[in-house]
Amino acid sequence: MAEHESLEFGKADFVLLDNVSMEEFMANLKLRFEKGRIYTYIGEVVVSVNPYRAMNIYGRDVIEQYKGRELYERPPHLFAIADAAYKAMKRRNKDTCIVISGESGAGKTEASKYIMQYIAAITNPNQRAEVERVKNMLLKSNCVLEAFGNAKTNRNDNSSRFGKYMDINFDFKGDPIGGHINNYLLEKVCIAFGKDFLLRGAPDSLLRSLHIQKDPKAYNFIKVGGQLKSCINDGADFKAVADAMKVIGFTGDEIQTVYKILATILHLGNLTFGVDGDVTLIENTKLVSVIRELLSTKEENVEKALLYRTVATGRDVIEKQHTTQEANYGRDALAKAMYERLFCWIVSRINDIIEVRNYDAKIHGKNTVIGVLDIYGFEIFQNNSFEQFCINYCNEKLQQLFIQLVLKQEQDEYQREGIPWKHIDYFNNQIIVDLVEQQHKGIFAVLDEACMNVGKVTDEVFLQGLNTKLAKHAHYTSRKLSPTDKSLEFDRDFRIRHYAGDVVYSVVGFIDKNKDTLFQDFKRLLYNSSNSVLKAMWPEGKLRITEVTKRPLTAATLFKNSMISLVENLASKEPYYVRCIKPNDVKSPLLFEHERCRHQVEYLGLLENVRVRRAGFANRQTYPRFLQRYKMISEFTWPNHDLPSDKDAVKRLLQGCGFDHDVAYGKTKVFIRTPRTLFSLEEQRAEMV
Ligand code: ADP
Ligand code: MG
Repeated sequence: MAEHESLEFGKADFVLLDNVSMEEFMANLKLRFEKGRIYTYIGEVVVSVNPYRAMNIYGRDVIEQYKGRELYERPPHLFAIADAAYKAMKRRNKDTCIVISGESGAGKTEASKYIMQYIAAITNPNQRAEVERVKNMLLKSNCVLEAFGNAKTNRNDNSSRFGKYMDINFDFKGDPIGGHINNYLLEKVCIAFGKDFLLRGAPDSLLRSLHIQKDPKAYNFIKVGGQLKSCINDGADFKAVADAMKVIGFTGDEIQTVYKILATILHLGNLTFGVDGDVTLIENTKLVSVIRELLSTKEENVEKALLYRTVATGRDVIEKQHTTQEANYGRDALAKAMYERLFCWIVSRINDIIEVRNYDAKIHGKNTVIGVLDIYGFEIFQNNSFEQFCINYCNEKLQQLFIQLVLKQEQDEYQREGIPWKHIDYFNNQIIVDLVEQQHKGIFAVLDEACMNVGKVTDEVFLQGLNTKLAKHAHYTSRKLSPTDKSLEFDRDFRIRHYAGDVVYSVVGFIDKNKDTLFQDFKRLLYNSSNSVLKAMWPEGKLRITEVTKRPLTAATLFKNSMISLVENLASKEPYYVRCIKPNDVKSPLLFEHERCRHQVEYLGLLENVRVRRAGFANRQTYPRFLQRYKMISEFTWPNHDLPSDKDAVKRLLQGCGFDHDVAYGKTKVFIRTPRTLFSLEEQRAEMV
C-alpha cells in the first residue's frame, strides 16, 4: 500500500476503500484527479488518469525518490512500478513485464515513455557508450513507430495498430543491451492509411518527386471521414521522423521507398473507375503513370492489376475483368495491404538494428528482459464490429492471465510463508476465452468455417453458424435467440457477456475483414518491382497463379495465434500493470466526465481487480518493515522492543490494538486481511507522528 498521504487526497490504494462499490471507486478516482493525484494503486496495479497538462512529477529529483524504494513507501507513481519491475529483474534474475492498457488517448504511450525514461535514467552508471547507443535507439524507434502506427486520435476512428510490445534486454549488470518490438495490427482492417505526415514538413523537392501536392484536401484517403483535423497526429512531424529513421540506420534507398509507398497510397485513393460499354476502365490514367514510376514497375502491369484478376480454372489460366465495384474494392485492399506491409517491414528493420548484437553479452550474461506492453483496453462503441471483437478477446486473454498470475502468486506466497490457503472468490473468465477461441465451436472457428463455404459467403451465414453452435452458451446470445431483448436492436446483432460487461456486436463486415482480400495480381505486381526494397516486402508475389494452392490464414486465425503467443510470452514473466483512464474527450485538464470514466472503470475490470486483490490479504509486509512503520503505535515496540523476534513484536503490537483476528503470521511477513485494519494502523500512526 502506498505511503499515506493526507486523506485530503483520497485513498492512495483502492484496496483501502471501505466498500468495493462503483460509487466509492469513482468518488476516490475523481477526488484524486481533482487534487492532481493522477496515480492510484490497486495493490501493485497503477491506475492512471490522463492529466492533459504538464505535470512536474517526472524530473530527475523524483526519479531519485523512487530509485530502489518499495512500492508503498512513496506516493503512487509509474516510477514505482518501473522500479519494482527492474528490481525484480535484477535481484531475482527474473524476466518481468509491464502491461499498460486503456483506450486510445488514455495516456498509454506517454506512460510507456516515462517508464523507459526511468529505466534509462537508473541504468548505465558507468556511462558505457554502447549502452547509451542502445537506449537512444530504443527511444528513437518509438518515435518512428508512433508516426506510422498511430493515425488519428478521434475516438471513433480505430487506428490501425492496437498494441505494441517491446522487450528491453539487459546484461548481467542490469544495463540495457538491446531490444525487440512486436506490433499488433488488426490486419486487413486498418482504416488508417491516411498518412498526412508527408504533407506536413516534407521539403518541396521531395514532394515534387513524389508528385504530391501540399494541400491535404487533394487526397481522398486523407479526407476519409470528412474530418481533416482528426487525422493530424501531434507526434508525426516529418522532420523528426525522417531524422529518427536516419539515426536508427535506415539506408537512403529504404527511406526513399518508404516515401514512395506513402505517396502511392495517397495516389491510389484518388484513382477512379468507370465503364465504357462492358469494359471497366481507369478514369484518371495519368495517375497510373505516377504510380508506375513510384513503384518501379511496368505501366501496363499496374493498369492490368487494377482492372483484372487472374484466375486458375483447372489447368487454364484466364483473366477476368473486374466490375467497377470490384476494382474499387481491389484498389482499397491494395492501399491497406501496402500500408500494413510497410509498417511490418519498418518494425522488422528496427528489430534488425536494435537486436542484441553483443554476442559476449548473449553468451556470458544472464540476459534478462523487461517487456513493456502498450495495448488497447476493452472497447465498446455505438457500433461494435470485428475490430472491437478482437480487442475485447485480447482483453479477455489478458484478464485470464491476470487472474492466473495473481492467484498463483498469492498461492505460492501463502505456501512459502506457511499460511493455510483460503479459497478466493472471483469470476473466472476462461469460459469466455473458450467461447471465442475454442477449436471447432468457438466464434473464430465458426467465422473461418463460414469464410470457407463454397456457396454463399455472407455475414448472415456466419451468424446462423453462431446461433446453431452457441445457442446454449451462457455468454452468447443474439437477436434470433432472444427476440424480446431490447439491447439487441438489429437482426444482425449478437451479444457477448464479457467479464467486464455486455457488448453487442454487429456481424456486418466480419466475413470481409476476416478474409485475405488482396488479389494475387497485386502481390505479383509488387514483387516484380525493380525496387529491391519494395520487392522484398512481397515475397509471396513470387508464386505463379497455378502454384497458389494454400489459402492464406484468415485475420481471425492470425490474430488468435498472435494473442496466444503474446500471452505465453507474458506468462513467462513477472507482470506489473498500469491501467490508463481518459477523463474526457476534449483534452481538458479540469474535466472529469463521470459517466465517461465510470464506463472505463467498468471495462478495464477495475472493480474486479480490487476484488481479486482483496480476496486474499490486502497487504503483506516483512516484520522489520512493519515495525519500522508502525512501532510508535505500541509501548512494547517503541522505540525498541525486547521480544525474542520481530515477529513476536509485531504480534504483540497487533494484539494490543485488537487486530490480531484480522491478520496471519507467516514465516517472514505479516499478512493483513482487510484494508480497514491497515487504514486504522495508518490513522494511529498519523496521530503519533
Ligand atoms: P494513448 O497512447 O493511450 O493513445 P497517449 O499516451 O498518446 O495516449 O496520450 C495522449 C495525450 O494525452 C498525449 O499526447 C498528452 O498530451 C496527454 N498525456 C497523456 N499522459 C500524460 C501525462 N502523464 N502527463 C501529461 N500529459 C499526458
Ligand atoms: Mg498510444
